[in-house]
This record gives sequence, C-alpha cells and structure tokens, in this order.
Amino acid sequence: MLVLVINSGSSSLKYQVRDVSAHEHEAGVLAEGLIERIGVGNGGGGDGEPIGPRDHAEALELVDARLHEVLGDRTVDAVGHRVVHGGERFAEPVLVDHEITRAIERLNPLAPLHNPANVLGIRAIAEKWPTMPQVAVFDTAFHRSIPEHAWRYAVPDWLYSRHGIRRYGFHGTSHQYVAHRAAQLLGIPEEEFDGVILHLGNGASATAIQGGKSVDTSMGFTPLEGLVMGTRSGDIDPSILVFLGRQGMNPDEIDALLNRESGLKALAGSNDMRSVVEAAESGDEAARTALAVASYRLAKYVGAYHVAVGGAHAVVFTAGIGENSGAFRALVAERLGALGVELDDALNAERSKEPRVISAPGSAIPLLVVPTDEERAIAEATATVVERASAGSQPVGSA
Ligand code: ADP
Repeated sequence: MLVLVINSGSSSLKYQVRDVSAHEHEAGVLAEGLIERIGVGNGGGGDGEPIGPRDHAEALELVDARLHEVLGDRTVDAVGHRVVHGGERFAEPVLVDHEITRAIERLNPLAPLHNPANVLGIRAIAEKWPTMPQVAVFDTAFHRSIPEHAWRYAVPDWLYSRHGIRRYGFHGTSHQYVAHRAAQLLGIPEEEFDGVILHLGNGASATAIQGGKSVDTSMGFTPLEGLVMGTRSGDIDPSILVFLGRQGMNPDEIDALLNRESGLKALAGSNDMRSVVEAAESGDEAARTALAVASYRLAKYVGAYHVAVGGAHAVVFTAGIGENSGAFRALVAERLGALGVELDDALNAERSKEPRVISAPGSAIPLLVVPTDEERAIAEATATVVERASAGSQPVGSA
C-alpha cells in the first residue's frame, strides 16, 4: 500500500510517500518534499521573492504533479495526516469523514496554529480525490492513557470543565514508535516495557512509559511546558506571566517571548544544538550555562519519571539532538549517575541510524538511542486503519 503522509502547517505542506509493505530495514520512502509560502508573497511579487501557491488546494496540485513524475503509473492508496490536537476524544488514529473533520475543527481553540491548517489539508485532499481514504493520526492520542493525577492541574475545576485546561501532551506518535522499537531492542514485550523516552528536537518532550503506555509526559496544555527547547522556555513560574502582563506586555507578546525567543536561543544565542555545543567547547560561558540548564532540567524529568514508572527498564534518546548529539547525551548521563547510570563513551561516540545501546554493561539503567520516524509511524497507522475499514467494520467516508 502507498500512503501519502501529509503534515500541513498554516503556510506549508510537508509530504512523504511511503510504501508500507517495505521491510523493516528498508526506509520505504518513495517521494518527499516541502511546499512553502502557501498564501504568502502574492501581494507584490516584484521583489524577486518566489510566489507561493494561493492555498492548500494549489499546493496539493504541485504535490500531485511531483508524485506523477516520481511514481509513474503507481497511485497513492490512502492519505495519513499528522493532526496536532485530538483533545480528549481521540485516543487512536481514525478514518476521516465529515463528522471527524468537524470534530478536529472544534478543537481549534486548543491548537490555534495547527488544527486549522490540518483541516485545510484534509479538505484539499477531499476536494481533489473525493474517494481517497484519509486517516488522522493525532500527536496527543498516545497520551490519552495518562491518569488523572498526572493530567490535572491543581486549579479550580471550571478551567477544565469550561476551557479544557488540562495536560494533553504532544509528540505522541514519536514516543509510541520509539517505545515500541526500544522494547524490541531490549527483547521485552511492548506491554511489559517501562521506560523514559526523551524526544529532543527543536521541540522536546520526555514521556514516562509504563506497560507500553504513556503515564506522564512533560508537555502539557500546550507544547510550551516541560523541557528547555530550541526556542521555548519549558517550565517557568506562572507568576512571571502575570508580572509581565502588569508590566504592560500583551498576550501575543508574552506568547512570542516564551515560544519563540526563549530556550537555547535565549540562553546561548542559537537554537541549533550543534552551534551551542561548539561554542561551549571553545569556552563560551553562555553556551555552557545553556547546556547546563537544559541537561539539568532533563535529568530532573528522568529522575521523576523513573519514579513514575516504578523503575525504568531504559532511558531512550531520540530526534535531532537525542540521535545526534553525543555531547548533550553525555551531559545528561553524567547527571544520572545517582541512579547508577553509566555511559559507554565509545558507544556514545558511534554514529549509526540503527537503534542501539550506549551505556556500559554495568549501568543500572540502560541508555538507548532509537531513531524516530514519525512519517513511517503515520503511514503504518494509516494502512492499518484503512485495511480494518475495508474489511468491513467501518465505512470509508470522505471529508
Ligand atoms: P524538529 O523538532 O524541527 O523536527 P529535529 O528533530 O530535526 O527538530 O532536531 C533539531 C535539533 O537537532 C537542532 O537543535 C539541531 O541542532 C539538532 N541536531 C541535528 N543534527 C545534529 C548533530 N549532528 N549534532 C548535534 N545536534 C544536532
């Protein structure tokens, strides 16, 4: 089965075509690309700036043209969408129909930047290929198993009942995929795997896994909570927001400050971990402090989640930083010494695309590196949902 995986943003559309029948060791990627500047740059056009497609429908025409070139006679069998927010309703990927599309739209207030764009992507596909099965795969779904003591904020109930203010968590597709691969690597059945997954990319989150399920995660009501990220602050005292409001900053300014101007960028002047590590190695004090703040915060979460899961079988690094930055992994590992964690420097320095162990044989908790592959996870989930539907249990709807 060929699955077109779509990640649509407000002005961009990222796509990949995966052959789901490819074997484990093959990537199965037949085509991929990114369409940018959707609905942007059509005003003047005389400044040499490329003119982007007018809307998501026009962007899809560009994707279709490229797919014809690459795939020839083969055609896409289904489309899988990365949808950021599934609220409290969606605990699994679902086949999209009118009602599902409207349900995703109703969640717009919880993810104002992302869900509207996801809906545009779904509608554009439905217009162009009305009989194409579409599946929504939610970033929040894997975290629906988090118990109330972990998802509830200690605030008056109307915040939850009226506004849906609770912890949801994100990066779920990645955490689920990586937990699955980590259990495989350790030879533990997935439903018996307890561990801590560290997804460290531009956005970063840690998830506590117990019995193969998410029981806590560091991102909360929005992706801002938790770890120090590329440009996000992660945890701060909420009174700081009140303070800034009283100083005259408006909500949009505070939002931009904490989501786009904070994190590594604020501490070290760059949100690129490579540059921060290089700067720290050549003696830059601010970069050293940034690494110390980020690795300390992360180690605290690992300690907390080790407790949450009743003793982790493994701590697993993934995503851009987790997979590639041996230097940052070493800083975190050092802080985990109190738990009996011991890194193997040679294994940590190896570069590989394969899941692997990087701790010493005597380490009380093994440290693993497991590359994530969200597109693959979305393609496989899409194929499973479509196959189940065509086996008769659910009618194939169009959005
Ligand atoms: P996104 O959340 O945008 O998908 P990624 O998972 O691609 O992000 O991670 C981006 C981060 O990974 C950046 O901080 C980048 O510096 C870091 N990174 C990527 N490659 C390396 C590398 N070889 N060494 C250190 N850091 C790296």
